[in-house]
Amino acid sequence: MPEKKTKFIVIAGSIMSGLGKGIVSSSIAKLLQSRGYKVVPVKFDGYLNVDCGTMNPFRHGEVFVLDDGTEVDMDFGTYERFLNQSLTGLCSITGGKLFKTVLEKERRGDYLGRDVQIVPHLTDEIKRRVAEAATDADIVLIEIGGTIGDLENGYFVEAMRQQNFEKDNMAFIQLTYVPSLSPGEQKTKPTQHATRLLQSLGIQPDIIVVREQEKLTSESRRKISTYCNVPEEAVFDDPLLQTVYQLPIVLDRQGLYDVLAKKLDLKKKDADLKTWQKKVSQIIKPKEKPLKIAIVGKYTAVKDAYVSVKEALVHSAAALNCGLEIGWIEGSDLESMDNVTPTLAEYDGIVVPGGFGTRGIEGKIRAIEYARKNNVPYLGLCLGLQLMVIEYARNVCGLKEANSKEFDKKTPHPVIDFLPEQQQIAKMGGTLRLGAYDCILKEDTIARRAYGESKVSERHRHRYEVNSEYVKTLEEKGLVISGTHPKNNIVEITEWSKGFGVASQAHVELKSRLESPAPLFVEFLKAARKK
Ligand code: GLN
Repeated sequence: MPEKKTKFIVIAGSIMSGLGKGIVSSSIAKLLQSRGYKVVPVKFDGYLNVDCGTMNPFRHGEVFVLDDGTEVDMDFGTYERFLNQSLTGLCSITGGKLFKTVLEKERRGDYLGRDVQIVPHLTDEIKRRVAEAATDADIVLIEIGGTIGDLENGYFVEAMRQQNFEKDNMAFIQLTYVPSLSPGEQKTKPTQHATRLLQSLGIQPDIIVVREQEKLTSESRRKISTYCNVPEEAVFDDPLLQTVYQLPIVLDRQGLYDVLAKKLDLKKKDADLKTWQKKVSQIIKPKEKPLKIAIVGKYTAVKDAYVSVKEALVHSAAALNCGLEIGWIEGSDLESMDNVTPTLAEYDGIVVPGGFGTRGIEGKIRAIEYARKNNVPYLGLCLGLQLMVIEYARNVCGLKEANSKEFDKKTPHPVIDFLPEQQQIAKMGGTLRLGAYDCILKEDTIARRAYGESKVSERHRHRYEVNSEYVKTLEEKGLVISGTHPKNNIVEITEWSKGFGVASQAHVELKSRLESPAPLFVEFLKAARKK
């Protein structure tokens, strides 16, 4: 039978949140990609925010940014890290975007006097957007955010039910959880109920993936199969793993692709996961002993707030075949200490990631000063560049009160100031300097060596920049400006001329993938290894 055009796979989570749906989706996408298919992941998010830009990382984890500047859910980071592929804003379909479009159409009179409803108007808008995202994809993999039964994602589920009925080109995957009350005592009843709930919405899962505390017993598998209407060979284990990057391999071994292939008429083919497997082995069993890296941040209690930074370190450590131990330090904790040395001395390198607002700023600056004076490799990301410049201005250039206008509106030395285009902006959402911008690298610098090329493009999300009026003073005192934006000379990368310190105005962590780690991170870990 000839292959039909684009196929669709829909993944829905059940029972509870936090089961790792994004990782399961990305792993399945990887299985398809590794067989030569062009896969486009799409995420449905039921919240009424238009995008993630206005969400607090404490509540929602990191805000991820795409090349086109769309601010998206952190699941997009997982998709890109697994697929080694850059996505566009079309892949993010939120409740906010849908309602905005439908209400704007209503105001324009596009609905010609009809009463405007969730079904069919909102559901049609979902199907339209899915088709738009699907252009030139062989397979679109759609992850429904939230849990089945949530009021928020009901219209997404309904739209997919309709599309399945209309086009018959879909496979549904349900992610569930099987708890064990004691070893061997597995409980499948929550899964059975959850599947009934999905069935009551008109959807029969083709595959059930089970997050579990221990491997499913044959009894549990049989029960899930019988009571959920799914063949036993379509029930898969999603066990606890040492690293998330193992999951594609684990699911492939169990034959998940074969079940999908049968349902969607895909070709019979083995996965090419050789390079992937090698990287995974280097994470699990690295040759060299672990490097200890401190991340000095503000949201360190919520590790999801820095997931791309953490993963970029994992990718680079794997590339160097080194182990990795990350220490999370609150910037504000360093502020109250008489001496930061006992806390920081155990680390081989220090990272200051991005951030907004004043809390913990002075503590982060102390960490940077410590790194510079003690020859500890330093990597700064966005805010981490701005603070590297402030520390240098204060302690090397003698501008004692140097600061960013973000933290001190009246500073006599605003070495970090508002980007000119930000002066007039009153709205919060989508108004930062966002997305990919080019950067020209200077010869004989850490950055140039790390990238091995003279022009690169990285992703941004900031309102402030290095004030050009201070560039000369900083350079005269030895701060190296190794990267600038070609058009308006915005400082993009700074370095210390002695020791190893490099910082980027861009969030270079956002483009780090297991198969192509961020060059500045690799260079930073090389320096940490030397130390
Ligand atoms: N708060 C700083 C700015 O707006 C840094 C932002 C960031 O680290 N993403 O410029």
